[in-house]
Amino acid sequence: MPAFWTEPDFDDHECVELVHDRKSGLTAIFALHSTHLGPGAGGTRFWHYSDPAMAMRDALRLSRGMSYKNAMAGLPMGGGKAVILADATHTKTPEMLAAFGDAIEALGGRYVTAEDVGMSEADMVTLAARTRHVTGLPATDPEEAGGDPGPFTAMGIYYGIKAAVAYKLGRDSVEGVHVAIQGTGSVGGGVARLLARDGARLTLADIDASRAAALAAELGAEAVPAEVVMDVACDVFSPNALGAILDDAGIARLKAPIVAGGANNQLARPEHGPALVARGILYAPDYVINGGGIIAVALEYLARQSGERCGIDQVQAKLCEIPERLTQIWRESGESGRSPDQVADAMAQKLIGR
Ligand code: NAD
Repeated sequence: MPAFWTEPDFDDHECVELVHDRKSGLTAIFALHSTHLGPGAGGTRFWHYSDPAMAMRDALRLSRGMSYKNAMAGLPMGGGKAVILADATHTKTPEMLAAFGDAIEALGGRYVTAEDVGMSEADMVTLAARTRHVTGLPATDPEEAGGDPGPFTAMGIYYGIKAAVAYKLGRDSVEGVHVAIQGTGSVGGGVARLLARDGARLTLADIDASRAAALAAELGAEAVPAEVVMDVACDVFSPNALGAILDDAGIARLKAPIVAGGANNQLARPEHGPALVARGILYAPDYVINGGGIIAVALEYLARQSGERCGIDQVQAKLCEIPERLTQIWRESGESGRSPDQVADAMAQKLIGR
């Protein structure tokens, strides 16, 4: 195992464990950053890394991110992440998943898993045969929360955009507000549909141009090539595709007073938070505005542990805390001069006792 404690991403993680099962060929890393607020919750990433040190870095960085995200979502959950090191062919066998489920169970509830890149709802069902500490399982009726967290993530972002529009533009509705959306997948597509319902003016872009075009036709929106979406003069730029898009060049291109979207790790480096402030752009910290998915799977998990079901109405109620939290961050940012991401980080650190 790489010496994880010498990695720059090591942040006093409580536990880092490498699991190897010879029979199935499973190799996985569990990283528990903080269980101060509850069990470390965060999805499992199934990915082929050309260098195992990169898998360790991902586990350390992403588990720390989950501590912050869960704390800011007001959940009684800590931060954890698992990474399964796939081979170059990305072969995933039932035996591997069984061994992985046993390894989660052996952690005794200190880690709770869900979907992430390379892991599906069906994989969660397979894991559930071996461990109780899995969530993101399919709902059994339409009033129950469960399964794909994407729609809940989108709903939280929609609330966050409305809060940003109210805070920065003084408008109590998004009717006629121009939003440019980068990425029209599960999250971006959901955000677009919710905004369209309220009469927002939408510009959509995706590297899969046919996807953006189809959604634009459905919603009466405009589609533009993916390369130009950051140049669109609009009220809100909503990144819902890639991380690290807010670098020097990206920020210089923006012609929007608000950046509010669900992509993870939007700021390329820490100095880009203050760079947005310097340009007068209001930024919704990504891990706060995109917490809707973890809210849904966490509430689903907590309900199941007490033998109950989690209603969609319960998730909805918790999602409404996202705009409140964002507004609190923007107010503190305005008063202190610190950028919204710096304010959010400080709040999260306080919540996890660091
Ligand atoms: P997705 O794969 O369903 O959609 C992503 C879309 O972005 C795809 O349509 C893809 O073609 C497009 N895309 C990729 N590169 C692009 C580019 N350069 N320009 C324009 N479009 C591009 O993924 P998703 O679940 O919608 O997730 C989107 C983002 O939100 C990711 O950063 C993800 O980490 C983050 N996120 C997702 C969730 C969730 O619940 N799904 C939760 C929190 C954060």
